[in-house]
Amino acid sequence: MPFDVVLRSGFENYDRTVLIDSLGEMIEQVGGWPESVVPGARALLKVNMLSAKAPERAITTHPEVVAAMVVLLRREGCIVTIGDSPGGAVKGVERYWKNCGFAAVADELGIELVNFEKSGSVQVFLDDRTYNISKPVIDADVLINMCKFKTHSLCRLTNAVKNAFGAVPGLGKAIHHSHAIRPADFAKILVDIYTIVGFDLHVMDAILAMDGKGPSTDGTPRLDGILGVARDGVCLDVIMAGLAGLGPRKLHTNRIALERGLGLIPEEIEVSGIEDCVLEDFRIPGESFYNLLPSFLGGIARYFFKKPPVATDKCIGCGICERGCPVAAITIRNGRAVMNRRKCIMCLCCHEICPEHAIKIRIPLGMS
Ligand code: SF4
Ligand code: SF4
Repeated sequence: MPFDVVLRSGFENYDRTVLIDSLGEMIEQVGGWPESVVPGARALLKVNMLSAKAPERAITTHPEVVAAMVVLLRREGCIVTIGDSPGGAVKGVERYWKNCGFAAVADELGIELVNFEKSGSVQVFLDDRTYNISKPVIDADVLINMCKFKTHSLCRLTNAVKNAFGAVPGLGKAIHHSHAIRPADFAKILVDIYTIVGFDLHVMDAILAMDGKGPSTDGTPRLDGILGVARDGVCLDVIMAGLAGLGPRKLHTNRIALERGLGLIPEEIEVSGIEDCVLEDFRIPGESFYNLLPSFLGGIARYFFKKPPVATDKCIGCGICERGCPVAAITIRNGRAVMNRRKCIMCLCCHEICPEHAIKIRIPLGMS
């Protein structure tokens, strides 16, 4: 019987040869390639490219894990591309490709990097919500989730399910943030998008993971040496949350996905290799204060207790955050970003996209 989730530990670096061999074996252990992996199939590797930072910062999927998957998919005859839409891509995605190491992989292996911002989108309706999903994601014959395991100040953890968010191009992501103030509500959107995009396979990079105040430059990179493969992203997230010390339903995306019948009953997930995996002293951000309130009180509490991020001395007044803020809460004054406390919805997009790491998150009352 194939395993639902396969974990391997002990990776001390991103040696491509080791990764190719390991991932090949792990894919066999989850039952082999999805049926859609056939010669000529268009395979899109949806990476986590949150910030235009070097792979050593542990913010993005490591390019060597991606390169290993490119090699493996090519052996199967697939036409492979790489794509994602980071929050700051409105100003151009090229520096993300370059700084994250994906441009070098694409050059070396002769594959295409897909710009979600310029490839069009498809409108998808789910329940009472409308989602614009990047067309290459919808059009791909094979969609592989190349997720990064790390902490997230808003969502607590980000891994397989949350990585679907980058399938929404441009400022659409910020608009979703503005419609879901409470992290528990935002998690519903994440699960919606995860459901819509329908990944065929999940590959998790937790070799260099991140804890503390993730998901970006305030988090702490740490060598955990773990690689994961799963056919189901919810199963993978449930298992990894458990390793990090969170019960199966303690993460909102997991709880909502399980309530919707996604994934498997946590106790029944068959995992290979978990006995060797340890996330020692893994520091996870606490539950948001807003989640403790009913939805209708969330907005009121946000007004009284919120502390919007602030721009520090590192700010150069480039205006990227101003253009990326979903509710126009930022203006550039005297060469520095200024956040409007009244308008800010605490989505933390500005913190994620600032190329200078100039935005500091302040923790509001009751939120750890
Ligand atoms: S805070 Fe960052 S993104 Fe915003 S203007 Fe300053 S340097 Fe640019
Ligand atoms: S100021 Fe920053 S945290 Fe506040 S709404 Fe704008 S992007 Fe989000």
